[in-house]
Amino acid sequence: MRQILIVGAGASGMTAAIHAARAGAEVILLEQKDRPGKKILSTGNGRCNLTNLDQREEYYRCSCPSFPSKALEQFSVEDTLEFFGRLGILPKSRNGYIYPNSDQAASVLEALLQELKALGVRVICNTPVTGAVKKGEAFFVYSGDRKFRGDALILAAGSKAAPATGSDGSGYELASGFGHRLITPLPALVQLRCGEKHYKRLAGVRTEARVSLYASGTFLASDQGELQLTDYGISGIPTFQVSRYASVALHRKQEVVAKIHFLPQMDQGQARDLLSRRREDMRGRTCLQFMNGLLNSKLSAVLLNLAGIREDQPVTSVTEAQWDKLFTWLTNYETKVTAVNSFEHAQVCCGGVDVGQVREDTLESKLVPGLYFCGELLDVDGICGGYNLQWAWSSGATVGRNSAGLAGGAKASRADTRQGDNIKLNKT
Ligand SMILES: Cc1cc2nc3c(=O)[nH]c(=O)nc-3n(C[C@H](O)[C@H](O)[C@H](O)COP(=O)(O)OP(=O)(O)OC[C@H]3O[C@@H](n4cnc5c(N)ncnc54)[C@H](O)[C@@H]3O)c2cc1C
Repeated sequence: MRQILIVGAGASGMTAAIHAARAGAEVILLEQKDRPGKKILSTGNGRCNLTNLDQREEYYRCSCPSFPSKALEQFSVEDTLEFFGRLGILPKSRNGYIYPNSDQAASVLEALLQELKALGVRVICNTPVTGAVKKGEAFFVYSGDRKFRGDALILAAGSKAAPATGSDGSGYELASGFGHRLITPLPALVQLRCGEKHYKRLAGVRTEARVSLYASGTFLASDQGELQLTDYGISGIPTFQVSRYASVALHRKQEVVAKIHFLPQMDQGQARDLLSRRREDMRGRTCLQFMNGLLNSKLSAVLLNLAGIREDQPVTSVTEAQWDKLFTWLTNYETKVTAVNSFEHAQVCCGGVDVGQVREDTLESKLVPGLYFCGELLDVDGICGGYNLQWAWSSGATVGRNSAGLAGGAKASRADTRQGDNIKLNKT
C-alpha cells in the first residue's frame, strides 16, 4: 500500500489526507499543534465562510495568474459542496457566500476529523517537522528524534499568517530545503497603517466607502464596502481586499497612498450636485449641522477640519475654495499608507512557494518527483469571501488524489445524494 506523509493538519492538509486515504493510500498526517485545524475555528468570525458561488480567475492572486485555475476546476465549488454535504455539512448561502447551516466553524472541523478517523488516517499532533529529505524513492521527515517514511510527501504547512494557529512559516524552510524558490511571503487581508494624526479621533467609525490604492502614483486596486477607521489607520473588507497590493508595494519601498470616496454610491457629478442642493437647503445652519445625516459625526468633524472649515461656521460664510476642499476630502480623501499590520493580524499571506517550479495539474514539484504542495504555502492568495478556503479544499484534494497515484486527479466520482444541489453556481 502506498504511504503518504502530510506535514500540516490545516484545511488543505486534512482535505489531502481524506482524498489520499479514499484513493487507497495509507496516510500519516503530522501536526505541530496539540490538535488539528486550529485556524479553521477562527474563520468567518467563527462561522467559517467555506466557499463562494461566484468564482472568477481574478479572485485568486498568484505570480502566474492562470496557475490556480486547474486545481479549482478539478475540485470545484460544486465538488466542495458535495464533499461537505457527504460529511454532513448542510450549506447555507448568504448572497453566494457559503457557510455551514450550523453557523459554527467547529462543525466543519468536526466533520473533517470524523472522516479522517473513519478512513483510518493516522493524525499525529505535537509533532513539529523540522527536516525532510528524499533518499532514493522514499521520503523521510524528522521531528526531534522521531522519523517517518513515505512514498510521497505533501507539504501543507500553511503560511506565516496568524501564527498562533500553527502556521509559523516553517513550511517555507522545508520547501527551500528541497531547492524550491520562494516569493517573499507578506501579510495580506490585513489592516493598513496610515500616517496622519487625526485617526485617533476617527477610531470606531464604520462607513460605506470605496478605497482605491496607488503606488508611486500608479493605480493598483480598489474595492467598495464597509470601511472601518481605527486609531492607526483603515480596516474592514475593502481595506483587506486591496491590502496585498499595499504589502507588495511597501516591500518594494514604493510610496503608497489610499484614496477614499466616502459617498461611493454617487459619481463625482452627483456628489457635487448633492452638496450644492444642501448648501441651498441648509442656509441657516452651521457647517456641522450641514454634515448631519450625511456621514458619521466624528468623520464629518475631521473632514470639515481638513477643509479648513469651523464646525460652528455658518454655511453662508463658507468660501468657494473651502467648499472645493470639502468636496475633495469627501470624495477623494487621500491618506499615506505607512505600513501594513503584522502577520499576527493577517488572515493570509501573499507570496510563498514559487509556482513556476510546481505542476499546475497535480501540484507536484517539478524538481522532486513525489513531493507535493497545497494550500497557502503556495504563492496563491484569494480575496476575502471564502476563496482562501476554496483554494485549500481544491489544492488539498488535488494533491491527495495525485500523490496516491489515482489517475484523473482531484475529480472524484459523484455521490448519489447531494446536499448542496439547491445552491446555484455563478461562474464567469
Ligand atoms: C482570522 C481568520 C479568518 C479567516 N476566515 C476565512 C474565511 O472565512 N474564509 C476563507 O476562505 N478563508 C478564511 N481565512 C483564511 C483560511 O483560513 C486559510 O487560507 C486556510 O485555512 C489555509 O489552509 P492551509 O491548510 O493552507 O494552512 P493552515 O490552515 O494554516 O494549516 C497549516 C497547518 O500546518 C501546521 N504546521 C505548520 N508548520 C508545521 C510543521 N513544521 N510541522 C507540523 N505541522 C506544521 C500548522 O500548525 C497548521 O495546523 C481566514 C484566516 C484567518 C486567520
